[in-house]
Amino acid sequence: MKIRVWCERDKCIGFDIVTPEAPVGKCPICGDELKVSPPAAPDDRVDVGKCWRCGCPNLYVEKSFPQALGCLVMVTSAAVAIYFAEKTYGLSFMGIIVLDFVLYFLVPTRAVCYQCSAEYLGAPKNPRHKGYDLLIAGKYADSEDVGGPAGH
Ligand SMILES: [Zn+2]
Ligand SMILES: [Zn+2]
Repeated sequence: MKIRVWCERDKCIGFDIVTPEAPVGKCPICGDELKVSPPAAPDDRVDVGKCWRCGCPNLYVEKSFPQALGCLVMVTSAAVAIYFAEKTYGLSFMGIIVLDFVLYFLVPTRAVCYQCSAEYLGAPKNPRHKGYDLLIAGKYADSEDVGGPAGH
């Protein structure tokens, strides 16, 4: 598993990739230490129940496949299927559907923390983690305005 940790310094957009075995990274922009705290027991490390960066229990899962690329693959494969449809009596469509299906399952998922946006690449599926929910994200966006160190 790889974890992408974002720098917490105001307006800094640096990030570093850390792993459960080497949980301390460094912001490439400002040099701040970027650290996660994986569970002590190695068995617990396969399951990200809570964010290892900020302790937030809410994470969402998404395919770590860029959506634009996914669309491109779909469009291209559909075009190919249409092109070959006459020669294969429509069988090419079946092939493309199977291919898309296989691709979808081959693409790894990543869990992302609502609060600090830490990304857990290749984290095994946790049934508690659902897809991105705007309402939950809104909750975190609101709480950020209250009592933050920003604005001085
Ligand atoms: Zn930084
Ligand atoms: Zn977090």
